[in-house]
This record gives sequence, structure tokens and C-alpha cells, in this order.
Amino acid sequence: SGKSLCYNLPILNDILYSKNISALYLFPTKALARDQLEKIDQLNHMLENNCLISIKASAYDGDTSRHTRKQLRENSDIIISNPDMLHYGILPFHPQWKYFMSRLRYVVIDESHIYRGVFGSHMSNIIRRLKRVAKFYGTSIQFILTSATIGNPKEFFTKLIGSPVEIITNDGSPKNSRNFIIYNPPLKHEFLRIRESIKNESLRLSRILYQSGIQTIIFTRSRRFAEILLKEHKERYSGSISDSSIYRSGLLPSERRQIEKGLREKKINIVFSTNALELGIDIGDLSAVIIAGYPGTIASVLQMSGRAGRGKDTSMAVLVVGSSPLEQYISRNPDFIVNNSPENALINPNNLSILVHHLECALTELPFRDNEHFGDLSPEQLNTLLNYFVGNRLAIHRDNKYYWIGKNQPTSKISLRSASQNKYLLQIFKNNQNIVIGEIDEDSAFLFVHPGAIYLQGGNQYLVESLDSVEKVAYLRKSNAGYYTIPKVETSVQLISMIDSSDEIGCIKTLGDIMINNQVVGYKKVLWEGGQTIGDLDLEMPKNEYQTKGYWISISKRIEDELNDDGLWNNSPINYGPNWNKQKLLALKRDNYTCQVCGKGHDGEIRLHVHHKVPFRSFLSYLEANKLKNLVTLCPVCHRRAENSVRIRSGLAGITHALRNLAPIFLMCDYQDIEAKVITNSDIGNQRPTIIFYERVPGGIGFSQRLYDLHQTILVNGYRLINTCGCNDGCPSCVGPGGEFGSGGKKEALAILAKMISESELN
Ligand SMILES: [Zn+2]
Ligand SMILES: [Zn+2]
Ligand SMILES: [Zn+2]
Repeated sequence: SGKSLCYNLPILNDILYSKNISALYLFPTKALARDQLEKIDQLNHMLENNCLISIKASAYDGDTSRHTRKQLRENSDIIISNPDMLHYGILPFHPQWKYFMSRLRYVVIDESHIYRGVFGSHMSNIIRRLKRVAKFYGTSIQFILTSATIGNPKEFFTKLIGSPVEIITNDGSPKNSRNFIIYNPPLKHEFLRIRESIKNESLRLSRILYQSGIQTIIFTRSRRFAEILLKEHKERYSGSISDSSIYRSGLLPSERRQIEKGLREKKINIVFSTNALELGIDIGDLSAVIIAGYPGTIASVLQMSGRAGRGKDTSMAVLVVGSSPLEQYISRNPDFIVNNSPENALINPNNLSILVHHLECALTELPFRDNEHFGDLSPEQLNTLLNYFVGNRLAIHRDNKYYWIGKNQPTSKISLRSASQNKYLLQIFKNNQNIVIGEIDEDSAFLFVHPGAIYLQGGNQYLVESLDSVEKVAYLRKSNAGYYTIPKVETSVQLISMIDSSDEIGCIKTLGDIMINNQVVGYKKVLWEGGQTIGDLDLEMPKNEYQTKGYWISISKRIEDELNDDGLWNNSPINYGPNWNKQKLLALKRDNYTCQVCGKGHDGEIRLHVHHKVPFRSFLSYLEANKLKNLVTLCPVCHRRAENSVRIRSGLAGITHALRNLAPIFLMCDYQDIEAKVITNSDIGNQRPTIIFYERVPGGIGFSQRLYDLHQTILVNGYRLINTCGCNDGCPSCVGPGGEFGSGGKKEALAILAKMISESELN
């Protein structure tokens, strides 16, 4: 799209006119960096041929051979690298970079919308370190960032680089007619609300295009999915077609080159791709794009669909959505994507667990002066943190300066993609030796490599034999078991302190610091084929505790009463099955004909009820539902209370399902970045029924604050999502499938939501 010309031309010009200027280009991936190098080389050829001058640009990354590094450092005008290399391969060795650093005038950060969330919070700290080092060599840097469209460019980029920015949004590229289509696969099963799959429909659409000779790219959400689509495509066209290909991460550079060339030269007509292609690789212009499943952010959709329509002809992009609430929401609210999104990119460079590690790095790079700033941290804040290092004998304070005295090089232990720095190694025993096949975060370790878990990696299936939490190693062995495992997690949430709270319609919203306590207490074995549970085992894993931020909504007492009065909870009568009368009598007898809550007995006036602890509807068989251990004797008053609490919880669970699925779109975050649950009888929410959203990154990076600010918007959109869903009484696309809290819950969820949003939004 020519955006790299926007920075290449002025920078090359400056370098040519003044020999004292160097530039650093940062790309999120090596592939993109190499791509850029090629572009500069082309410009260089033109310069050499026409003006007999040239500049020296080099890629400097993990693939750069050791013995050429010195030469590159000393001869290059432009270094093209990535954040990881800057973090562990350049900054810690800055004295070797003295010549380059002392000339450093421009830093280009391409695809900078990538640097959000945890990765972005790391990136922001790396930039703080880079600015410190540059200042040491007497230079001040001008940053040039390019980005896909995001909702808050000014705020976000200012925070990312810690300096004011000017936003340029002019687009001079040729625009041709492009049709953007959101395709919702038809219902295959009306009652269960099951739709035709993304896979089948994407393949069907791609076949139409392929047979018409229209060059097409199909984006998938995972590498495995891309492989499956290609396999089925090839099977249909007798297997031996050279014009169909797959593009994913992990390809050899030569393989990748070949595909890119094939696409440009129109020798490849259909390519199945993970988002590896999304990031600005040059493949010419395509006629059609199919996005098989919502890729997680609107920015991604825009970028993927932007792959079509760079040429002269009309083009099209189709987003095939699945049945998740988020995707169904999009299919009914196309404006959300078409008319630019409210998506904001968020980072929190001052997240303590991220900041502390980069402070260690910064301190090894150069001593800190007492009056120094670090990003927006004041000298006072900074000194507090540095004194913590002194207290732990990692630093000393002398002559108004802090010096690092720790033995280890801190950069090696930081992962830029996660906030938690504790890692477990995954080890298998093969050919009489232990082989490490990967690593995993500590909190994920308890979830996915607990003893007995089936762990999937690289298409292989492993059984976890044991997990050593002292050595931090999981011992696996290859397995071809016909089942997979699902961990059972118990989560408790504790209030640490409230940050902000306010009265809203029908509820109180609160932002606060909380403590999350996760424990894996067991796991289920589920058959790959058929999906039946064949085992339900107990397990006691260590508790995993972390502090983070949360946003919660507590329903007011008035609303609960109103809903009760409205009789919204009336249920249609249920046929409890042929053994019901017998079981009912057994339960009454066992409970000695007294209400098990208030103790009221049978005295002619009151008829006692027998109640299902877990609702009847959530069982597949009446025999299970009517088992004695699921029955309890209650008086009519207590029974009504019990039923109401189930239904209110059912309504809240429904709202939680919908909002939790909708929230990532407003936060521009990954699905896994947040979690939500219903809590009752807790300090959180003052004993009121409460829905809480919390961040899975220790310390939080601003998602809770954002949700707190967007309170009304999210409730309104949640209401619309559920209200416009075509199902009768709840489905996976709105309030979730029936289950734990009884089937349905749609009506209850809508009733509760309606009481929390302003009347003008109810239509
Ligand atoms: Zn009672
Ligand atoms: Zn009941
Ligand atoms: Zn539904």
C-alpha cells in the first residue's frame, strides 16, 4: 500500500545528505523485516544506477550470523530488527553499538497496532530503555509509527513511545470498489440453533471462486484449520494441483518466498493462510478474501479484507461467522465493522510485574541517577522501586546513583509475550534421554499439564505422567488415547480494595483491586469421538493466586424484588417422569416430613414440596434428576425462594455468558485476557448478586477500567445481542446453552438487563 515509502523516502534522503544519521526499523516479525530489506534494496539499486550513491541497510536478528554482526553494527545506516532482538541482543550490549547509537536519528515502528496488551506494555518499556541509551550517546530520536486503524491512536501511541505524537490519516492509495460481505451460515437445526459450520461454508464459497478462476485467499484462525481446509480442497480436486497452497508461520524463508512470488505472478490461485499474511507482506493484489471465522479484532478484519482491492478491478471480502455470541452479534450489527470500530488499544507500561523486569534491564544497561525519570514515572516513584533492588542486594546506591550488582543478566528471563515469568519445561523421554519439547506458563501448567492431562502439541498427543512443581518440569509421554481432558477449576475472588464505585440504573458498578485464587480440583476425560465423558477424576493442584483488577456489577435489591413481583419467574409445568411419585415419597420420609430450611413440619395446613437441588431440566435422564441425593423437602415459602435464586442466577449466568463474549470486542483484547463469573454472598458486591469481570494478567493492564467506563454501552449491546437472537429460550449464541443453572434463562437475562439500561435504549 506504499506506506513504507512514507518513511523510507524522507529517511533515505536525510541519510544521503548527512553522513551522520542512522535509523532503526522495528518489525514485529522477521519475515516482515526481510521483506522491508528487499524494498530498500530495490530503492538502493535505483539510487546506484541513477545517482551513483547508495546507503547500507541490514537485517539484524536471531538469524544474523555471529561473525557478520560486528561489521553490520559498524557499517549500517539502517538496521532492521524486531523488539525481541532490541531487548536482548542490542540494548544490553550498547557499548558495541556506540557508533550506530550516537548517529541514531529515526526509529520506525511498523505495524505498531500490534503492540497492545501485555506485549505492548513490554514494548513501551523497551522503548523507554532505548531512549535512555540514546540520550546517553547524546542523540534524541524521532519516532515514526505506522498502524492499522484503531480507535484511540493519539492516546495509545503517546503512551507507547512516551512522547507526544501527531496523527496522519490521509490515504492517497488508489481505492477501487470492494464489496464487504458478512456471511452467517444457515441454520442446520432450528431447535438446537446449530448452524452450518464455518469450515463447510468457507470451502463452499472458495470453490465457487476457485472454479471461476478468481484468485482467492482464505484466512483461518489456526494453522491446523488451514491444513484441514487445504486437505479437503485438494481431495476434491484430485490431489495434484500446484495452484493451491498454504501459508503459515514456520515455513522456511524459501518456501514463503515462493508462495509470495506465486501469488504475485498469479501462478497460485488459492491460498489458505493463518494470520501470518495479515501483517503487510507483499503479495500483490487479490480479487477475493474469505475470512473463515472472526479473527478476534475488527482491526484484523480490516487488514485481512484489505488484501483484496488494491488493483484496478472490483473485489470482495467475505467474513464467514460462527455461532459464538460475538460473531452472531457482528452478523446482526454489520455497522460495527463497516463504520469503524470503538476498539481501543490498551497498554499499561507501569504494570508492576512488567515494569520491574525492565527496570532491572535498564539498570544493567546504565546506572540510574537519583533525579532521573523513566517514562512517566517520577524520580520519587522510581527511587522507591530502585530501593527495593538495593534491599534485595541487586543494586547499590552510591554518589546519587543506583548501580546493578546482581549476578544474572536479567533480560534472559523475560518473556515479552506474557506477564508471568515462571515457566515449566515440557519434557519427554526418548532414546534414553530427556528431551525438552517446549515450555508453558506456570498458571497454564496447572491447567493443561496436570498429572493425567492429555496435552497436544505440533499435532502430537501426549499424556502427562507427572508435574514437578519444585523443578518446574512436566514429564510427558506420547499417547494415542482416544480421549482429551478438561480441567475442573475452582475460582474464588476476594476484595482487596475499591478504586471507584458509582450508582447506576438498577445496580452499582465498581472498579477495584482483587485477589484471584484458582485451583484445579479435578479433570474430565472426554472421548474425541462422540464427546461422552468417560471419567471424572479428583486432583489437588497447588493454588494459583494473583492480584489483579476487576470491574463488577451488583444488582440492587429493588430490582430483585420487582422481578419477583412481575412474576417473571413462572415456569411451565414439567413432567417429572414415571418414578417421580415414588421418589418424592422417599424424600419426604427421609427428611422426616419437615422443611429442610426452616424446619416447618407437615400439619394439614401446609403442603410440603420436594425440590430438585440441581434443576430437573439440566439432566438428560429423569432417573438421574430424581435421585434422592438431588431431592430436598421444602415448605412452599422456602421453595419459592430456592427457585427464585436459581432463576436469578440463571439470568445472571446468561448475562455473564453474553457480556463476557462481547467484551473483547470493546477491549480489543484476546478472549483469554479476561474472565467473568457470577458471585453471590461476597464482600465483592456487598452480598448482592454480582457479575464480575477480571483481568488474567497479574496487576491488570487497563481492561477493567475500560469496562467500568463503558458500563452502559456494554449492557445495551448485551441486551441487543440477546434480544435479537432468533432462539426461543437461550442458545450458545446468546445466553449460553442450558446446563448448570437450568435450561434457558433468556427471558430472565433480558428482564434483568432491561432494568439496568436507560429506557431510550429499549427497543
Ligand atoms: Zn421452609
Ligand atoms: Zn423446586
Ligand atoms: Zn440465542
